[in-house]
Amino acid sequence: MARAYNFSPGPAALPEAVLRQAQADMLEWGDAGASIVEMSHRGPEFLQVARQAEADLRTLLAIPDDYAVLFPAGGATTQQALIALNFAGAGQRVDYVVSGHWGKTALKQLVSVDVNIAASGDSDGFRTIPARETWRLSKEAAYVHITANETIHGVEFRPGWGRVPPDTGDVPLFADFSSSIASEPVDVSKYGLIYAGAQKNLGPVGISVVIVRRDLLERAGQPRADIFDYRSQLANESMLNTPPTWNWYLLGQTVRWMIEQGGTAEFDRRSALKSKLLYEAIDGSGGFYRNEVDPSVRSRMNVPFFLAEAALDAAFLEGAREAGLIGLKGHRVLGGMRASIYNAMPVEGVQALVDYMQEFRRHHG
Ligand SMILES: *Cc1c(COP(=O)(O)O)cnc(C)c1O
Repeated sequence: MARAYNFSPGPAALPEAVLRQAQADMLEWGDAGASIVEMSHRGPEFLQVARQAEADLRTLLAIPDDYAVLFPAGGATTQQALIALNFAGAGQRVDYVVSGHWGKTALKQLVSVDVNIAASGDSDGFRTIPARETWRLSKEAAYVHITANETIHGVEFRPGWGRVPPDTGDVPLFADFSSSIASEPVDVSKYGLIYAGAQKNLGPVGISVVIVRRDLLERAGQPRADIFDYRSQLANESMLNTPPTWNWYLLGQTVRWMIEQGGTAEFDRRSALKSKLLYEAIDGSGGFYRNEVDPSVRSRMNVPFFLAEAALDAAFLEGAREAGLIGLKGHRVLGGMRASIYNAMPVEGVQALVDYMQEFRRHHG
């Protein structure tokens, strides 16, 4: 069976080379006599896998030494809850900029902190990101939280919006990079904390990455169980309890693949090319397809689009499937379609989608 071009938003497509290697490694790790997924996380084989994954991630993202890297079990939503516990004292002010569904989700994870919504794109359906001048930031906030790329609404902090990342003065900037990490070079030193669930751009679901300026770990947080304490996790190499070893291994393989492909500079180039192809096909369709996001903040990773006639949605998806293009159904919050074009999606996959869209329009336009 041929593998389709998979536009799924997450869990998302993995590079075929990574899946093939994983297939080989599944049965036996080297000559260890067992699979990597069957061995102790404290044994030399897995420790080597875990440490190599961190070293490679540091290389890929050019993470400075004064930043710690954690590999916590669970998703981005889990980290949304944990960052408040770890960095804000009880009742302390935290600032949130809400630019879409995941920014709203982040708010729902907050308890016993004083939340200030510094800005929100809600009033225009998250088609823009409020200009930096309009943000009402608090001087005493523990941190300012943004979502670098909104996976559902398809809005991303891009240079056309203004200075990226936004300046937040002395208050550290925390960013949810779940769906855009490693898609372009990022100056990590501009952030206090970056987190990402792995299942969009970094590998499989079940594990996250947290990159945090070390000195921030010593700031007051709230009383919390050891297992939720980033300091304890760091002291124990993210192995306070049994980590999701297979996921960690797959993440490491995916990171290694990205380095071999040319790193974030190369994915920047590919993301620019892929997103341009797709947006031009949508904008040039005479209204048959439409994307409603302000072009200055259009996401290069997730492209939501609508057919002028929603009655054609089912036929569009059915035809796409027959053409070997899957995962295009839009999120239930927005409806319509969405093409997620993460690092593992080759340019040819986007070209195949664009060709199909033009063909479909010729038949139904
Ligand atoms: C997918 C996603 C999340 C939620 O991730 P989970 O791993 O399901 O908790 C949060 N933020 C963004 C930007 C996402 O794309």
